[in-house]
Formats: sequence, C-alpha cells, structure tokens
Amino acid sequence: MSFLLTCPNCGKRPVAEFAFQGEYKRRPKPQAAFEAWSEYVYMAKNHRGRQLEWWFHRSGCQRWFLARRSTVDNTDHVSFWFHDLGSDV
Ligand SMILES: [Zn+2]
Repeated sequence: MSFLLTCPNCGKRPVAEFAFQGEYKRRPKPQAAFEAWSEYVYMAKNHRGRQLEWWFHRSGCQRWFLARRSTVDNTDHVSFWFHDLGSDV
C-alpha cells in the first residue's frame, strides 16, 4: 500500500523512500533482568490502531525519526525527532 509519510526534515514523501524499523519501545535500563531485555529485543505488540514507530529516510536525508501512525489505514500520522518525544510515552 502506498501512502505519503512526513519526514521532519524533508516533508511529505512517498513511503517507498523510507524504511520501517519497527514499533517504538522504551529501552530497559542496563541492569534490567534478562527477561526485560528479551522482551525488548524479540517481542512486538503488533498493535492494531495508532502506534509509535521508528522510520528511516533512506532515499532522502538519511535520518531517523518517530511517527505515530494508524496501522489500520496508514492515516492520521504525526512525525517528529526522537529528542522531541515527551516523557509520557
Ligand atoms: Zn528526510
């Protein structure tokens, strides 16, 4: 399915210019238990609806960013840099 995705640096572009890099997950602390790291590395929620995701603009500025997107119909998305992510996620 083709749709437009907004790079915070370059603006709206065809999604084919980007690489999807999975859902955003909060990284465990270095001293966290093995189970917490296993969950972080191997488990995905595959949420149906709006989720926060990592994207890479491979055919553009080569920068990483986050996008909140509906996984149902690829609409209603908002893109921003990681450093703009609030602490409430
Ligand atoms: Zn870009």
